[in-house]
Amino acid sequence: MSVIIAPVQQSVSQYLSSTNYSKVVVVVDENTRQHCYPLIENVLPEHTLIEIPSGEENKHLGTCEHIWGIMTDAQLDRHSLVINLGGGVIGDMGGFCAATYKRGIDFIQIPTTLLAQVDASVGGKLGVDFRGFKNHIGVFTQPQRVFIDAKFLETLPQRELRSGFAEVIKHCLIRDAEMFEIISQKTLEEQNFETLIAHSVEIKKGVVAEDPTEKGLRKILNFGHTIGHAIETFYLDKGDERLFHGEAIAIGMIAETYISYRKNLIDEQTLKLIKRLLISIYGKTIIPITAFPAIIIHTQQDKKNRGAEVRCSLIDGVGSCLFDVSITPEEITEALSSCNE
Ligand code: NAD
Ligand code: ZN
Repeated sequence: MSVIIAPVQQSVSQYLSSTNYSKVVVVVDENTRQHCYPLIENVLPEHTLIEIPSGEENKHLGTCEHIWGIMTDAQLDRHSLVINLGGGVIGDMGGFCAATYKRGIDFIQIPTTLLAQVDASVGGKLGVDFRGFKNHIGVFTQPQRVFIDAKFLETLPQRELRSGFAEVIKHCLIRDAEMFEIISQKTLEEQNFETLIAHSVEIKKGVVAEDPTEKGLRKILNFGHTIGHAIETFYLDKGDERLFHGEAIAIGMIAETYISYRKNLIDEQTLKLIKRLLISIYGKTIIPITAFPAIIIHTQQDKKNRGAEVRCSLIDGVGSCLFDVSITPEEITEALSSCNE
Protein backbone atom coordinates (compact mmCIF):
# COMPACT_ATOMS: atom_id res chain seq x y z
CA MET A 1 0.00 0.00 0.00
CA SER A 2 1.41 3.36 -0.86
CA VAL A 3 0.83 6.76 0.63
CA ILE A 4 1.23 9.58 -1.87
CA ILE A 5 1.79 13.05 -0.49
CA ALA A 6 1.30 15.41 -3.42
CA PRO A 7 -1.20 17.85 -4.94
CA VAL A 8 -4.34 15.75 -4.92
CA GLN A 9 -5.72 16.61 -8.37
CA GLN A 10 -2.67 15.35 -10.20
CA SER A 11 -2.10 12.29 -8.04
CA VAL A 12 -5.72 11.13 -8.12
CA SER A 13 -6.17 11.72 -11.84
CA GLN A 14 -2.92 9.88 -12.54
CA TYR A 15 -4.13 6.92 -10.51
CA LEU A 16 -7.52 6.86 -12.19
CA SER A 17 -6.04 6.99 -15.66
CA SER A 18 -3.77 4.06 -14.84
CA THR A 19 -6.70 1.91 -13.68
CA ASN A 20 -9.93 0.77 -15.24
CA TYR A 21 -12.81 0.67 -12.78
CA SER A 22 -16.32 -0.17 -13.90
CA LYS A 23 -17.98 2.24 -11.47
CA VAL A 24 -16.84 4.82 -8.94
CA VAL A 25 -18.45 5.88 -5.68
CA VAL A 26 -17.31 8.85 -3.59
CA VAL A 27 -18.16 8.97 0.13
CA VAL A 28 -18.27 12.41 1.79
CA ASP A 29 -19.95 14.17 4.70
CA GLU A 30 -21.60 17.59 4.41
CA ASN A 31 -18.38 19.42 5.30
CA THR A 32 -16.06 17.53 3.01
CA ARG A 33 -18.66 17.81 0.26
CA GLN A 34 -18.55 21.56 0.64
CA HIS A 35 -14.82 22.08 1.21
CA CYS A 36 -12.96 19.10 -0.25
CA TYR A 37 -15.05 17.62 -3.06
CA PRO A 38 -14.64 20.77 -5.25
CA LEU A 39 -10.87 20.19 -5.16
CA ILE A 40 -11.13 16.82 -6.91
CA GLU A 41 -14.51 16.84 -8.63
CA ASN A 42 -13.17 17.82 -12.05
CA VAL A 43 -10.70 14.92 -12.23
CA LEU A 44 -13.26 12.26 -11.35
CA PRO A 45 -15.02 10.09 -13.93
CA GLU A 46 -18.80 9.72 -13.72
CA HIS A 47 -19.57 8.63 -10.16
CA THR A 48 -22.19 8.22 -7.45
CA LEU A 49 -21.80 10.61 -4.54
CA ILE A 50 -22.78 9.27 -1.12
CA GLU A 51 -23.14 11.96 1.52
CA ILE A 52 -23.49 10.91 5.12
CA PRO A 53 -23.98 13.23 8.09
CA SER A 54 -20.69 14.19 9.78
CA GLY A 55 -19.68 13.15 13.27
CA GLU A 56 -18.60 10.13 15.30
CA GLU A 57 -22.24 9.57 16.34
CA ASN A 58 -22.94 8.47 12.76
CA LYS A 59 -20.11 5.94 12.62
CA HIS A 60 -22.26 2.87 13.11
CA LEU A 61 -23.75 -0.09 11.23
CA GLY A 62 -26.94 1.84 10.42
CA THR A 63 -24.95 4.27 8.29
CA CYS A 64 -23.09 1.35 6.72
CA GLU A 65 -26.42 -0.17 5.70
CA HIS A 66 -27.29 3.12 4.05
CA ILE A 67 -23.94 3.13 2.19
CA TRP A 68 -24.20 -0.54 1.17
CA GLY A 69 -27.77 0.20 0.03
CA ILE A 70 -26.65 2.96 -2.33
CA MET A 71 -23.77 0.79 -3.61
CA THR A 72 -26.26 -1.97 -4.34
CA ASP A 73 -28.75 0.38 -6.04
CA ALA A 74 -25.91 1.77 -8.18
CA GLN A 75 -25.15 -1.85 -9.17
CA LEU A 76 -21.52 -1.69 -8.14
CA ASP A 77 -19.72 -4.85 -9.19
CA ARG A 78 -16.44 -6.22 -7.89
CA HIS A 79 -14.45 -4.08 -10.32
CA SER A 80 -15.68 -0.84 -8.78
CA LEU A 81 -13.83 1.74 -6.73
CA VAL A 82 -14.82 3.56 -3.54
CA ILE A 83 -13.16 6.91 -2.85
CA ASN A 84 -13.36 8.01 0.78
CA LEU A 85 -12.99 11.76 1.01
CA GLY A 86 -13.02 12.99 4.58
CA GLY A 87 -11.72 12.65 8.12
CA GLY A 88 -11.24 9.48 10.11
CA VAL A 89 -14.96 8.82 10.35
CA ILE A 90 -15.41 8.67 6.57
CA GLY A 91 -12.14 6.75 6.11
CA ASP A 92 -12.92 4.12 8.75
CA MET A 93 -16.55 3.63 7.76
CA GLY A 94 -16.31 4.07 3.97
CA GLY A 95 -13.28 1.77 4.02
CA PHE A 96 -15.16 -0.81 6.08
CA CYS A 97 -18.12 -0.70 3.67
CA ALA A 98 -15.79 -1.18 0.68
CA ALA A 99 -13.79 -3.95 2.37
CA THR A 100 -16.94 -5.95 3.07
CA TYR A 101 -19.14 -5.18 0.02
CA LYS A 102 -19.22 -8.36 -2.09
CA ARG A 103 -16.33 -9.60 0.09
CA GLY A 104 -14.28 -6.54 -0.69
CA ILE A 105 -13.80 -4.06 -3.52
CA ASP A 106 -11.00 -1.57 -4.14
CA PHE A 107 -10.97 1.69 -2.23
CA ILE A 108 -8.71 4.69 -1.93
CA GLN A 109 -8.43 7.03 1.04
CA ILE A 110 -8.21 10.80 0.69
CA PRO A 111 -7.90 11.95 4.32
CA THR A 112 -8.85 15.58 4.83
CA THR A 113 -8.18 16.17 8.55
CA LEU A 114 -4.74 16.29 10.12
CA LEU A 115 -5.68 13.38 12.38
CA ALA A 116 -6.76 11.23 9.45
CA GLN A 117 -3.64 12.18 7.46
CA VAL A 118 -1.08 11.46 10.18
CA ASP A 119 -2.79 8.57 11.96
CA ALA A 120 -5.85 6.89 10.42
CA SER A 121 -4.28 6.84 6.93
CA VAL A 122 -1.71 4.22 7.90
CA GLY A 123 -2.26 0.76 9.36
CA GLY A 124 -5.31 -0.59 7.55
CA LYS A 125 -7.69 -0.42 10.51
CA LEU A 126 -11.31 0.06 9.40
CA GLY A 127 -14.56 -0.17 11.26
CA VAL A 128 -17.44 1.35 13.16
CA ASP A 129 -18.61 1.84 16.73
CA PHE A 130 -21.08 -0.61 18.25
CA ARG A 131 -23.18 -0.35 21.45
CA GLY A 132 -20.99 2.42 22.77
CA PHE A 133 -17.74 0.55 22.10
CA LYS A 134 -15.39 2.43 19.76
CA ASN A 135 -14.29 0.62 16.61
CA HIS A 136 -15.85 -2.56 17.96
CA ILE A 137 -16.76 -4.04 14.56
CA GLY A 138 -14.12 -3.85 11.89
CA VAL A 139 -11.43 -5.38 9.74
CA PHE A 140 -7.80 -4.87 8.79
CA THR A 141 -7.73 -4.14 5.04
CA GLN A 142 -5.28 -1.95 3.15
CA PRO A 143 -6.60 0.58 0.64
CA GLN A 144 -5.17 0.60 -2.90
CA ARG A 145 -3.66 4.03 -2.21
CA VAL A 146 -3.76 6.91 0.24
CA PHE A 147 -3.60 10.38 -1.25
CA ILE A 148 -2.59 13.13 1.14
CA ASP A 149 -2.62 16.85 0.37
CA ALA A 150 -2.00 19.44 3.10
CA LYS A 151 -4.17 21.86 1.11
CA PHE A 152 -7.27 20.27 2.66
CA LEU A 153 -6.16 21.62 6.04
CA GLU A 154 -6.84 25.20 4.91
CA THR A 155 -10.56 24.79 5.57
CA LEU A 156 -10.26 22.58 8.63
CA PRO A 157 -11.53 24.26 11.84
CA GLN A 158 -8.59 25.33 14.02
CA ARG A 159 -9.68 23.13 16.93
CA GLU A 160 -9.66 20.05 14.65
CA LEU A 161 -6.16 20.98 13.43
CA ARG A 162 -4.89 21.38 16.97
CA SER A 163 -6.45 18.07 17.97
CA GLY A 164 -4.72 16.21 15.12
CA PHE A 165 -1.43 17.86 16.02
CA ALA A 166 -1.32 15.83 19.25
CA GLU A 167 -0.60 12.72 17.18
CA VAL A 168 2.25 14.56 15.44
CA ILE A 169 3.75 15.45 18.83
CA LYS A 170 3.27 11.84 19.93
CA HIS A 171 5.16 10.54 16.91
CA CYS A 172 8.07 12.87 17.73
CA LEU A 173 8.09 11.88 21.39
CA ILE A 174 8.19 8.15 20.70
CA ARG A 175 10.59 8.16 17.77
CA ASP A 176 12.32 11.43 16.87
CA ALA A 177 13.98 13.79 19.35
CA GLU A 178 15.29 16.08 16.63
CA MET A 179 11.85 16.75 15.18
CA PHE A 180 10.50 17.28 18.69
CA GLU A 181 13.08 20.02 19.13
CA ILE A 182 12.00 21.62 15.82
CA ILE A 183 8.27 21.65 16.58
CA SER A 184 8.93 22.90 20.12
CA GLN A 185 10.33 26.13 18.72
CA LYS A 186 7.19 27.02 16.76
CA THR A 187 3.59 27.86 17.48
CA LEU A 188 0.88 25.69 15.94
CA GLU A 189 0.32 28.26 13.18
CA GLU A 190 4.02 28.32 12.30
CA GLN A 191 4.39 24.55 11.83
CA ASN A 192 5.30 23.17 8.44
CA PHE A 193 2.47 20.67 8.03
CA GLU A 194 3.66 19.21 4.76
CA THR A 195 6.94 18.14 6.36
CA LEU A 196 5.23 16.98 9.52
CA ILE A 197 2.62 14.87 7.72
CA ALA A 198 5.35 13.06 5.75
CA HIS A 199 7.33 12.62 8.96
CA SER A 200 4.39 11.19 10.91
CA VAL A 201 3.40 8.85 8.08
CA GLU A 202 6.96 7.50 7.90
CA ILE A 203 7.08 6.90 11.64
CA LYS A 204 3.71 5.19 11.79
CA LYS A 205 4.50 3.13 8.68
CA GLY A 206 7.82 2.03 10.18
CA VAL A 207 6.26 0.96 13.45
CA VAL A 208 3.30 -0.80 11.81
CA ALA A 209 5.62 -2.63 9.38
CA GLU A 210 7.61 -4.03 12.29
CA ASP A 211 4.48 -5.17 14.10
CA PRO A 212 1.41 -5.26 11.84
CA THR A 213 -0.88 -7.09 14.27
CA GLU A 214 -0.11 -5.10 17.42
CA LYS A 215 1.63 -7.87 19.33
CA GLY A 216 4.43 -5.65 20.61
CA LEU A 217 6.16 -2.57 19.26
CA ARG A 218 3.02 -1.10 17.70
CA LYS A 219 1.83 -0.41 21.24
CA ILE A 220 4.22 2.55 21.41
CA LEU A 221 1.70 4.35 19.18
CA ASN A 222 -0.56 4.31 22.22
CA PHE A 223 1.71 6.62 24.17
CA GLY A 224 -0.55 9.16 25.93
CA HIS A 225 -3.60 7.07 25.08
CA THR A 226 -4.02 4.89 28.20
CA ILE A 227 -4.76 7.86 30.43
CA GLY A 228 -5.77 10.17 27.55
CA HIS A 229 -8.44 7.83 26.27
CA ALA A 230 -9.77 7.35 29.81
CA ILE A 231 -10.04 11.14 30.16
CA GLU A 232 -11.74 11.39 26.75
CA THR A 233 -14.26 8.73 27.82
CA PHE A 234 -14.90 10.48 31.15
CA TYR A 235 -15.74 13.74 29.37
CA LEU A 236 -17.87 12.08 26.63
CA ASP A 237 -21.18 12.83 28.32
CA LYS A 238 -20.15 16.18 29.80
CA GLY A 239 -21.81 18.33 27.11
CA ASP A 240 -19.82 21.46 26.30
CA GLU A 241 -16.84 20.23 28.33
CA ARG A 242 -16.38 17.33 25.89
CA LEU A 243 -12.77 17.08 24.75
CA PHE A 244 -11.59 16.41 21.22
CA HIS A 245 -9.50 13.24 20.92
CA GLY A 246 -6.18 15.08 20.59
CA GLU A 247 -6.96 17.39 23.49
CA ALA A 248 -7.48 14.39 25.76
CA ILE A 249 -4.36 12.71 24.38
CA ALA A 250 -2.35 15.87 25.13
CA ILE A 251 -3.36 15.60 28.80
CA GLY A 252 -2.68 11.86 28.65
CA MET A 253 0.83 12.54 27.33
CA ILE A 254 1.50 14.97 30.19
CA ALA A 255 0.27 12.40 32.73
CA GLU A 256 2.19 9.50 31.20
CA THR A 257 5.34 11.62 30.85
CA TYR A 258 5.00 12.34 34.56
CA ILE A 259 4.83 8.59 35.28
CA SER A 260 7.92 8.09 33.09
CA TYR A 261 9.66 10.67 35.29
CA ARG A 262 8.47 9.04 38.53
CA LYS A 263 9.78 5.69 37.31
CA ASN A 264 13.16 7.35 36.66
CA LEU A 265 12.91 6.76 32.92
CA ILE A 266 13.41 10.48 32.16
CA ASP A 267 14.82 13.41 34.14
CA GLU A 268 12.93 16.39 35.48
CA GLN A 269 14.17 18.72 32.76
CA THR A 270 12.73 16.47 30.04
CA LEU A 271 9.42 16.32 31.90
CA LYS A 272 9.29 20.12 32.07
CA LEU A 273 10.19 20.51 28.40
CA ILE A 274 7.38 18.23 27.24
CA LYS A 275 4.84 19.66 29.66
CA ARG A 276 5.69 23.20 28.58
CA LEU A 277 5.15 22.46 24.89
CA LEU A 278 1.86 20.65 25.46
CA ILE A 279 0.45 23.34 27.73
CA SER A 280 1.53 26.09 25.35
CA ILE A 281 -0.63 24.51 22.63
CA TYR A 282 -3.51 22.95 24.55
CA GLY A 283 -3.72 25.15 27.64
CA LYS A 284 -4.48 23.56 30.95
CA THR A 285 -7.60 21.52 31.62
CA ILE A 286 -8.10 21.13 35.34
CA ILE A 287 -9.40 17.65 36.04
CA PRO A 288 -11.52 17.64 39.21
CA ILE A 289 -10.20 15.30 41.92
CA THR A 290 -13.67 13.79 42.13
CA ALA A 291 -13.19 12.53 38.55
CA PHE A 292 -10.00 10.59 39.31
CA PRO A 293 -11.67 7.31 40.40
CA ALA A 294 -13.82 7.16 37.25
CA ILE A 295 -10.80 7.91 35.05
CA ILE A 296 -8.81 5.15 36.77
CA ILE A 297 -11.66 2.70 36.16
CA HIS A 298 -11.62 3.66 32.48
CA THR A 299 -7.86 2.97 32.28
CA GLN A 300 -8.54 -0.49 33.69
CA GLN A 301 -10.93 -1.20 30.82
CA ASP A 302 -8.31 -0.43 28.16
CA LYS A 303 -8.13 -3.13 25.44
CA LYS A 304 -4.34 -3.29 25.82
CA ASN A 305 -4.36 -4.50 29.44
CA ARG A 306 -3.71 -7.96 30.76
CA GLY A 307 -6.35 -8.82 33.35
CA ALA A 308 -6.70 -6.14 36.00
CA GLU A 309 -3.17 -4.79 35.52
CA VAL A 310 -2.96 -1.50 33.62
CA ARG A 311 -0.25 -1.55 30.98
CA CYS A 312 1.02 1.56 29.39
CA SER A 313 3.61 2.84 26.92
CA LEU A 314 6.11 5.16 28.59
CA ILE A 315 8.94 7.21 27.14
CA ASP A 316 12.47 6.56 28.38
CA GLY A 317 13.79 9.70 26.72
CA VAL A 318 12.54 12.07 24.02
CA GLY A 319 12.30 9.95 20.88
CA SER A 320 12.27 6.60 22.65
CA CYS A 321 9.38 4.59 24.05
CA LEU A 322 8.82 1.38 26.02
CA PHE A 323 5.60 -0.64 25.99
CA ASP A 324 3.77 -2.99 28.37
CA VAL A 325 4.91 -1.13 31.47
CA SER A 326 2.63 -1.78 34.46
CA ILE A 327 1.28 1.29 36.19
CA THR A 328 -0.64 1.43 39.46
CA PRO A 329 -3.78 3.40 40.43
CA GLU A 330 -1.56 5.39 42.83
CA GLU A 331 0.75 6.40 39.99
CA ILE A 332 -2.22 7.43 37.85
CA THR A 333 -3.68 9.51 40.70
CA GLU A 334 -0.36 11.26 41.25
CA ALA A 335 0.03 11.86 37.51
CA LEU A 336 -3.47 13.35 37.21
CA SER A 337 -2.74 15.64 40.17
CA SER A 338 0.49 16.73 38.50
CA CYS A 339 -1.49 17.77 35.38
CA ASN A 340 -3.44 20.22 37.55
CA GLU A 341 -0.27 21.88 38.91
P1 NAD B 1 -13.99 13.45 11.56
O1 NAD B 1 -13.92 12.54 10.42
O2 NAD B 1 -15.25 13.47 12.36
O3 NAD B 1 -13.67 14.94 11.07
C1 NAD B 1 -13.74 16.02 11.95
C2 NAD B 1 -14.64 17.11 11.41
O4 NAD B 1 -13.95 17.84 10.39
C3 NAD B 1 -15.94 16.63 10.76
O5 NAD B 1 -16.96 17.52 11.10
C4 NAD B 1 -15.65 16.72 9.27
O6 NAD B 1 -16.81 16.90 8.52
C5 NAD B 1 -14.77 17.94 9.21
N1 NAD B 1 -13.82 18.02 8.09
C6 NAD B 1 -13.06 17.03 7.61
N2 NAD B 1 -12.18 17.51 6.72
C7 NAD B 1 -12.42 18.82 6.59
C8 NAD B 1 -11.83 19.87 5.84
N3 NAD B 1 -10.76 19.63 5.06
N4 NAD B 1 -12.33 21.11 5.95
C9 NAD B 1 -13.37 21.35 6.80
N5 NAD B 1 -13.96 20.42 7.57
C10 NAD B 1 -13.49 19.16 7.46
O7 NAD B 1 -12.85 13.19 12.64
P2 NAD B 1 -11.28 12.88 12.56
O8 NAD B 1 -10.71 13.58 13.72
O9 NAD B 1 -10.72 13.10 11.22
O10 NAD B 1 -11.23 11.31 12.81
C11 NAD B 1 -11.70 10.69 13.97
C12 NAD B 1 -12.03 9.26 13.67
O11 NAD B 1 -10.87 8.62 13.17
C13 NAD B 1 -12.51 8.47 14.85
O12 NAD B 1 -13.66 7.77 14.51
C14 NAD B 1 -11.37 7.51 15.15
O13 NAD B 1 -11.80 6.29 15.68
C15 NAD B 1 -10.78 7.34 13.78
N6 NAD B 1 -9.35 6.95 13.79
C16 NAD B 1 -9.00 5.86 13.08
C17 NAD B 1 -7.68 5.44 13.05
C18 NAD B 1 -7.29 4.24 12.26
O14 NAD B 1 -6.17 3.75 12.40
N7 NAD B 1 -8.14 3.76 11.39
C19 NAD B 1 -6.71 6.15 13.76
C20 NAD B 1 -7.09 7.29 14.47
C21 NAD B 1 -8.43 7.67 14.48
ZN1 ZN C 1 -5.00 8.93 18.98
